[in-house]
Amino acid sequence: MSDAVLTINAGSSSLKFSVYETGEDDRPALAAKGQIEGIGTSPRFTAADAAGRSLVERRFPDDRTSGHPEFFRVLGGWLREQFGGTELIGVGHRIVHGGVDYAKPVRIDPAVLEKLTALCPLAPLHQPHNLAGIRAVAAFRPELPQVACFDTAFHRAHPEVADWYALPRRFHDDGIRPYGFHGLSYEYIAGVLPETAPELAAGRVVVAHLGSGASMCAIRAGRSIDSTMGFTALDGLLMGTRCGALDPGVVLHLNRAYRLDADAIERLLYHDCGLKGVSGISNDMRDLLASDDPRAAQAIELFVYRIGRELGALTAALDGLDGLVFTAGIGERSAAIRERVCARAGWLGIELDDAANRSGG
Ligand code: ADP
Repeated sequence: MSDAVLTINAGSSSLKFSVYETGEDDRPALAAKGQIEGIGTSPRFTAADAAGRSLVERRFPDDRTSGHPEFFRVLGGWLREQFGGTELIGVGHRIVHGGVDYAKPVRIDPAVLEKLTALCPLAPLHQPHNLAGIRAVAAFRPELPQVACFDTAFHRAHPEVADWYALPRRFHDDGIRPYGFHGLSYEYIAGVLPETAPELAAGRVVVAHLGSGASMCAIRAGRSIDSTMGFTALDGLLMGTRCGALDPGVVLHLNRAYRLDADAIERLLYHDCGLKGVSGISNDMRDLLASDDPRAAQAIELFVYRIGRELGALTAALDGLDGLVFTAGIGERSAAIRERVCARAGWLGIELDDAANRSGG
């Protein structure tokens, strides 16, 4: 019987997972990858094997009441059916916030879970769902080792100067500081650079993670030096529905002049801004690229402009730039956006190989 490890990324309305089997040489190999999306609305379960062949495609009736625990049971049942001859030996969870304590993955026990629960107010839209995943697994397999892997951990290598806001010291001591997110994505990129682009691995690189959430990270010799996201995942670039960097005075004004309370401002800044807010059309870059509405063009222009501006700032943090890496949905699949970003970054010595860019998606 072979062993398997399950990795889980539990979001607000989705459960993404991968199954890795340990083969004969004990190196984990991807066996299946999938997701249950639309939890709370129209749930749909899809998974494929390592070659991309579909293993399951199941729809559930529209349902606002079933949450993560129910769908963990669905997933558990499917895993037993699909991998009956395999022994599940552990679960790794993507956890958005590890606070100041965790600079690497940690085995979860009740004390760790309590610490991570205390961080929920710092990432209210992600952390509770991530932790629901841990609790759901513990409920049906309490003895199974579970490990938390943090989106903040990679950024704990920041130099001290990049770790402060200019607030009175006591707020820093209370944990109000720039943490940075998307760390698992950046850590992966830093890990593959020695193979994919050895000339950059020891150098100064900015990685642009451009997905629904978007941020950029300055990496020197494989370590995070600074990033565009801060205390929350709202800061920095403009995103699908999040505003990105905003004068804090705007928040005060929204409260006083528009009478929006904290919850209403939170909803606005996380869900109604960014590409969606500026275009008034869609939060999806594909829709905007396909549209001939001038508001779509304006939203894309602002997206690209902000990337260029942050690239300049991160280049300053690195004292120069040797390379720019793109990742996530827009970064990996949109040659047009990569081209526009690189065109703006010509002054930094960035040169784009047009043929390679176009063949890369
Ligand atoms: P998430 O942060 O939800 O994981 P992804 O990394 O999947 O997001 O990125 C989602 C974004 O990628 C969406 O804005 C989507 O429009 C965009 N995207 C996906 N494919 C393409 C494409 N071919 N061209 C442009 N944008 C794309």
